[in-house]
Amino acid sequence: MKTYAYGFPRLGKQREFKRLIEGYWAQKVTEEELLTGIKELNRKREETYQKYVNAHPQGEMTLYDPMLDMALLFGVYKAETLDEYFNLCRGKDALEMTKWFNTNYHYLVPDFEGKKPCFKVTTPVWNRHEGARENVHLIAPFTFLKLSKNLPQEYFEEALKELTEIVVQYINEKGFESVHLEDPALVMELTEKEWNLIQDAYKSFEKANAEINIFTYYDSVDCLQKLFDLPVSGVGVDFAHDRGENLAQLREIDPKGKKLFAGVVDGRNVWRNDLFKTAEVISELSKKFDVVVTNAAPLFHLPVNLLGVTLPEELLKKVAFAEEKLKELQLISQILSGDEAEAKEWVAELESSFGEITKVRERVKSLKEEDFVRKPSYQERIKKQQEVLNLPLFPTTTIGSFPQTEEVRRVRLLYKKGRLSEEDYKTFIRGEIAKAIQIQEDLDIDVFVHGEFERTDMVEFFAEKMKGIATTGNGWVISYGTRCYRPPIIYGDVERDGQMTISEIVFAQSLTEKPVKGMLTGPVTIIAWSYVREDIPTSEVAYQIALALKDEIKDYEKAGIKIVQIDEPAIREKAPIKKRNWDEYFDWAIKSFRLCHSSVKPETQIHTHMCYSEFGEIINYIVDMDFDVISIEASRSKGDIIETFEKVAFDRQIGLGVWDIHSPYVPSLEEMEVIVERALKVIPKENFWINPDCGLKTRRWEEVIPALKNMITVARKLRKT
Ligand code: GLN
Ligand code: ZN
Repeated sequence: MKTYAYGFPRLGKQREFKRLIEGYWAQKVTEEELLTGIKELNRKREETYQKYVNAHPQGEMTLYDPMLDMALLFGVYKAETLDEYFNLCRGKDALEMTKWFNTNYHYLVPDFEGKKPCFKVTTPVWNRHEGARENVHLIAPFTFLKLSKNLPQEYFEEALKELTEIVVQYINEKGFESVHLEDPALVMELTEKEWNLIQDAYKSFEKANAEINIFTYYDSVDCLQKLFDLPVSGVGVDFAHDRGENLAQLREIDPKGKKLFAGVVDGRNVWRNDLFKTAEVISELSKKFDVVVTNAAPLFHLPVNLLGVTLPEELLKKVAFAEEKLKELQLISQILSGDEAEAKEWVAELESSFGEITKVRERVKSLKEEDFVRKPSYQERIKKQQEVLNLPLFPTTTIGSFPQTEEVRRVRLLYKKGRLSEEDYKTFIRGEIAKAIQIQEDLDIDVFVHGEFERTDMVEFFAEKMKGIATTGNGWVISYGTRCYRPPIIYGDVERDGQMTISEIVFAQSLTEKPVKGMLTGPVTIIAWSYVREDIPTSEVAYQIALALKDEIKDYEKAGIKIVQIDEPAIREKAPIKKRNWDEYFDWAIKSFRLCHSSVKPETQIHTHMCYSEFGEIINYIVDMDFDVISIEASRSKGDIIETFEKVAFDRQIGLGVWDIHSPYVPSLEEMEVIVERALKVIPKENFWINPDCGLKTRRWEEVIPALKNMITVARKLRKT
């Protein structure tokens, strides 16, 4: 049985990728050092593949993002120097960034600016294909165009044909022997017209003098037979995220002599594979197909390997990171050739469960419909809230975090490494909170935040405070460019391990007369940015987390906190790729949010915050979450989200971000006013808040203070009119 793997992390165990590229940006690494460093890193990656599997793609390595590389290779953008390349990634000429399917990876979005595209093969400054001959990595034309923006519908057909031809021309010119073509957009719900366009355009692959294998992942392909009809050599499908739909189709399909790349080892979650069951499926498929065993979804969603991670002993025996997933592919092929010993050992602990808390199980089991419903109605409770809070028209607030300065990060690290006592650390954090409160006091903001100085990351922080969730210590994954995060692992029943956030919030509140928001990360976001157990339904995990947050909110109320914000920035991202599966997802997603706040007092005001995605399509689900106030990102799309509110009955209070905090640029009064004016055409002024787009932790105080000053001025001017 042949094995194949793709998408192995480019980050490097020591985060070499980040160090090299950021070093180059800071002018501490020369161009030559950068390029040789990246090549060396890639050589190590390829060696890792070769240790375990028969084949893998070549030319996968990027300096920032594969979508950008495609755009450069085929002439959508130009970058003749490395600095020009990086200008397209960051800074004021940067391409927009958005989530890659339903993952937490962000790609750079090629922009056709409404014009007819004109493709040509170029030799990019970063030539990822140098020396590559076999399984040369490319993003397929359909996925590339489908994920780009401002490509007018009327040009799509032509563009797809042209780009496919250019790709074939490139393959032939370079003399590649085989090509690894990634086409995950084929798992989207496509129209019949789109399928026809694809089949038509991809006919050109016939002219390629190379073997072409086309890979799909993250979900099932709705018309799998159509892929087997294409003039390609092999088709890759995902068996881990397809709800069984791919396998069911394959049983009926005519292989037409194509290879089947069976994606059986999950590239998105950390649980060890049930190797013997998998081997059975492969045996069955082998009767009909020429099967190659591979991973389901690229492996870069996982940390490099388990070396040096800080997980509980029992958990270590149940998980696999990227390198261990390669090992699993090897073990499956061993089983199939009759060698079972090592595989048996690998799965020995698979069935055992741990981290069960009876109390939590029972609490979830006994939930009734009314536990998900807050009373009284919004219209009644908002009056009570206004009496208590007494806020002016156009209340001003921020989203939660304030700048995480060099000093804050340094002190937190000292504490983590045990070089600073808990008491000294607490004193330091309180000092930062006090400063932040004073700044908000001076600015005369209406609703305060404590600044989140004690939090490294909005999910990891809560993971550390909850039973049943493990943090990994060094399990880094790229979220975009060189930016990394460490997804925690939700392995057992989740419960609060004592109060999580109360002391900081209460301390902040003790310093001011203004209301300070209690600040929580919601259940869906905690789940979306973690690896989640699969032995119980995700809905149950969500309710467990919600109950923990519910207890925290109770404690806020007892301590006199009047406003609680539950952030759910990942609610859109976590939605399934196929819309026909949305109802099922949003059902538990919304209920978990409602469970957090359903039993608060009428006068406690519940806020939520969302960002990073297009919310237009899901606005009806959002309304159902039954919060009192929402703050939502708006300025990056220049307020396009506002149109959404023309179409739905939206009676809640809302703050549309007037300042794009992702850029160091301080927006002027006028720029903020443009967004507000547009918004006030559809949202009644009594319901309108003034706030930035998102938390301010990546900004510097020198940017934050003038921008907030402008924001306050906008609110004051509005109150006078
Ligand atoms: N409260 C969080 C913060 O301000 C929200 C972050 C987010 O939405 N990503 O940092
Ligand atoms: Zn945000």
